[in-house]
Amino acid sequence: MRSQMDEPFSRQMNFISVCSKCQAKCCRNARPPLTHRRIRIIEDYLQSKGMLPRICEGEYSFPDERTDGSCSLLDVNTGRCVVHEVKPETCVAGPITFDVNRRRGTIEWYLKTEAICPLAGILSRNRPLLLEHLLSARRELLCLVDELEGSELKAILRIEEEDTVKIGEERLPDSVLKKLR
Ligand code: SF4
Ligand code: SF4
Repeated sequence: MRSQMDEPFSRQMNFISVCSKCQAKCCRNARPPLTHRRIRIIEDYLQSKGMLPRICEGEYSFPDERTDGSCSLLDVNTGRCVVHEVKPETCVAGPITFDVNRRRGTIEWYLKTEAICPLAGILSRNRPLLLEHLLSARRELLCLVDELEGSELKAILRIEEEDTVKIGEERLPDSVLKKLR
């Protein structure tokens, strides 16, 4: 699962043409979870540009935010992510997101609605593109839930996400379910 994750430019399709028009709405109050591995990757990436990330550490780690709630990794001048090539897993997966159904032992895939994400509207009307992106999102999010600590994953699962529709589910690996007990 990890080999492709370490090749930054193969991690995602590029939706910048769509996202630039909505000025990165999803980069406000996003708090994308950062695993220890992702923090190291982002630190290495930014150090090569003479920068350092500001990380907020609470029940789980995420990039620090500005007072207006925008992610500190968002370039407010360009509306682009300064770590686009190595950005957090949930940022690559968006507008696909996830929840865990512990009773059924599954991970459920959700797509945000067009009301909050123009790209979600495009994906909902183009099934081949949606399935292609789901492949990428699934790979990223399964890696994320595998790498997070149990307490971090539990904290993330307590966050309610509105304006989403379920698009699929699959069995979670036992190793992840064990962390949630
Ligand atoms: S993923 Fe959706 S909300 Fe986020 S920047 Fe792109 S179009 Fe906007
Ligand atoms: S890491 Fe990048 S894509 Fe993710 S919320 Fe922050 S600015 Fe947006």
